[in-house]
Amino acid sequence: MMAQDWAAQLYNQGLIALPCWGGGKTLPGTCHRQLADNPPSEKAIYQADYSGGLSILLGTHHSGGGFVTAMDIDEGPISFMKWPKGLLLAEHGTSAGKWHIFLTTIDRLQGQINLRDEVGDLVAEIKGYGLSMRSWPTIPIGKPRGYRVVILVDDCNVIPVFSVADTTEWLRNLLSSTLKKNIQAKNTQQKVYEHQILDSHFTRLAKDIEAELLKRGVSLRPSGRDGWQSGKCPFHHDVRPSFSISFELGAWKCWSGCGSGYLPSLARRLGISNNRRSWEVRG
Ligand SMILES: [Zn+2]
Repeated sequence: MMAQDWAAQLYNQGLIALPCWGGGKTLPGTCHRQLADNPPSEKAIYQADYSGGLSILLGTHHSGGGFVTAMDIDEGPISFMKWPKGLLLAEHGTSAGKWHIFLTTIDRLQGQINLRDEVGDLVAEIKGYGLSMRSWPTIPIGKPRGYRVVILVDDCNVIPVFSVADTTEWLRNLLSSTLKKNIQAKNTQQKVYEHQILDSHFTRLAKDIEAELLKRGVSLRPSGRDGWQSGKCPFHHDVRPSFSISFELGAWKCWSGCGSGYLPSLARRLGISNNRRSWEVRG
């Protein structure tokens, strides 16, 4: 099968293929977050050049609801007795115990969660928004073959059942019993954002906050990665821009000590979330 045909087949299952180079790295200048929010068209996907390999974009909205999340397992079981809930695609690696598993989760993982054994060796990663993961028929440099497709769920009605937390716990338990080690999960990147649910309520909340800040004369300027912006703090008499906010991560902070937290707490402070209960839950 041609890589293009595989890309098209993935598209039908709600998975977005990205062209790579060097066996798994996406092309320079690829903005995973932007692409995850605005995926390329089916035509663009079919016409892309996958001669340097193919990876699957993560953190995308899946057609069955939820978001595409992946497990990158280095030391796993020889075979699976049970697949994780929401399974889309499983590929077997270049040696026993290596797996690439794609599934849908009800919430969107920001970045990745690392699973390590007691001595700190990395045994698996769970990957989400901002990342991609290599897929068949990519051949890694210096390796005789790439990953092999074991199962592509032929059902466009896959319903996300697991949250990111459920997925992490499921994999942690599986690896702990397979390896007979105490596996620990750590999100080295953004621990606090891993369960953030980016649904329409959240988007609306971000819009309301943006409007309220504008009303209070707070103008925001980009100030770093992950969508961080800064401006004068709405809660104290600010001469320098000591207020930071990232709508992308859903977080805010006043560096002069007015507070910090997620967007729902900011909305409460700004007096705009009183009658929208769904946000309160996520604060
Ligand atoms: Zn302040």
